[in-house]
Amino acid sequence: MSTIDEVKARIDIVDLVSETVQLRRTGKNYTGFCPFHSNTRTPAFVVFPESGTWRCFGQCNEGGDIFSYVMKKEGWDFSEALRYLAERAGVQLQAPTPEEQAVAEEHDELRALLEEAVTFYRHQLLNTKAGKIALDYLCEKRSLSDEIIEAFGLGYAPNSWDATLGYFKTKGYPETDLLAAGLISERDTGGYYDRFRHRVMFPIRDARGRMAGFGARILNPEDVPKFLNSPQTGVFDKGSLLYGLDLARKAIRSADQAVIVEGYLDVIALHQAGFANAVSPMGTALTEQQLSLLKRYSRRIVLALDPDAAGDKATLRGLQVARQALDREADPVFDARGLLGYEARLRADIRVSTLPDGLDPDEVVERNPQEWEHIVEQANPIVVHVMETLAAGRDLDDPKAKDEIAAQVLPLIEDVPSPIERDAYRQRLARLLRVDERALLSASRGGRARRSRMSRRQAPPAAGQEAAPLAMKQMAASNYAREVHCLGILLRRPDLLYQVDRKLRQKDLEPLSPADFQHADHQAIVGLFQQAVDQDSAEPLNYVLNSLDLPMMELADGLLESTTELDPEDERVLEDLMRGILDLRLRNLRQEIEYLEFMQKDAQEQGDVRASQYRQIMVKLAQEMLGLNKALKEYTERSTVRRRM
Ligand SMILES: [Zn+2]
Repeated sequence: MSTIDEVKARIDIVDLVSETVQLRRTGKNYTGFCPFHSNTRTPAFVVFPESGTWRCFGQCNEGGDIFSYVMKKEGWDFSEALRYLAERAGVQLQAPTPEEQAVAEEHDELRALLEEAVTFYRHQLLNTKAGKIALDYLCEKRSLSDEIIEAFGLGYAPNSWDATLGYFKTKGYPETDLLAAGLISERDTGGYYDRFRHRVMFPIRDARGRMAGFGARILNPEDVPKFLNSPQTGVFDKGSLLYGLDLARKAIRSADQAVIVEGYLDVIALHQAGFANAVSPMGTALTEQQLSLLKRYSRRIVLALDPDAAGDKATLRGLQVARQALDREADPVFDARGLLGYEARLRADIRVSTLPDGLDPDEVVERNPQEWEHIVEQANPIVVHVMETLAAGRDLDDPKAKDEIAAQVLPLIEDVPSPIERDAYRQRLARLLRVDERALLSASRGGRARRSRMSRRQAPPAAGQEAAPLAMKQMAASNYAREVHCLGILLRRPDLLYQVDRKLRQKDLEPLSPADFQHADHQAIVGLFQQAVDQDSAEPLNYVLNSLDLPMMELADGLLESTTELDPEDERVLEDLMRGILDLRLRNLRQEIEYLEFMQKDAQEQGDVRASQYRQIMVKLAQEMLGLNKALKEYTERSTVRRRM
């Protein structure tokens, strides 16, 4: 997680703003008097907890996130605001010390050695007689193509105690380096031996594609364990890596969805079948770190689990001990309670989908790729998944069964931060068990009182009658992704800014401005772009990059990463960017109209004359929206025509 993300994740915008502005809950949002312009009549200031943003719909007509709020309030620049909020959130912000620098260099050396190991194992797979068994296994038994074997860099570790050791020693590597990289192990009696022997080798890389370690699968069914990973090293930490993420990033972003499966070969088979948004943990339960890593690309995460992992009653109850006693290869991936906590903290949308009995993802896609699509589409929210799995095959006329299921599901429902979601789940459970909802409410009251004392901060209050919280969460996430996408393009092609502004002007629209973005880090970068094109002492991109300080560099890195696959020569890039910007404007306009609708209703109820003024502004905004929609439609149509050609 980047420093900026971490600070954002830890500070609740409602808490922050409430310190200086008296907020009133209005539906799912909060309103108050704007602290930035003098006003006591109209509460024009709105805080949107779901997206972590605020906006003044009055005189300022500005908005942003926690950073821009503090910047505006204190008159600080972005880094000052970041320093202040980071300290408040307890997040460390420092330039690397010489010691950290030394560690970073050491890690680079480890990665270089591992990279050589990839080449060594691949040579063994493709060019040796012994490797032929492994190659046959991959091509014939697993139906993998040469291209996909190459793309994932698969290899073969020879059936020997010292082949790898010997090879790297002749290349001049000391044993201590090989040990540090996890390629060899130390004997109790002294001396070393190859860690991986007679196994298919899966290079494991971090999200940026840098080598981290290996996973290795047996070829001889008698061997144990079936899967063996690199040990924990300076660059290999199972809990913070996801297999396949380096190759899945782009697809995750464009599909705005990540799918988690449980196996390296499943990931590869899915990528081969065109489902390149699949990743896998390394035989351990999902960690918050892994999920927040994914969240950088999409907040919509689907767990596609085999029925064993997802439906095991013991797992659902959180009795991991019972599960371990079953002697499974992998540790449990599914821990409903833990996942709900991550979902709330990361503001992610985590869903669960179960595979047909006895089939792995690779078998499903091989049988019928559409079936895979269907399985992913059918994913349910965690709570729904748990209640349906528990109810499956039970006699729901039996009061004892009802009671048992309710006893397991209700505590989970109490963990859900949004009261609307909680209500919806309770209703669903009542329908499923065919009991009166009030009975469920009274059964869960004790738990809820406990919860509200314990975790108010983690659960930003959000209420409203008609809102659909999951859809909204997705909206907030995709808005963020859209901002990232636009900025990623501009970082690659700063010159497009002129063209964008010209096109906007042709349509009688305002030029691009930081106000089109809601996140302060993004706003700051747009501001830099504007400065960059107004000067001529440096290339615009260099100007922008040179003006960024350390945490912002991290952000720019991520933005550039989001567009590595972009072909800057492609003329559609400009259209893509225009679409993105128009979309962002529509979003802002929609928020404004929503706010006015609320104000108008409020004024009307109180017999306030301003109701008609609000209505007039709404009409004006609706016209503006028409114009934007028309412009957007042009770009959408044009791109579909092109694509068809
Ligand atoms: Zn204002």
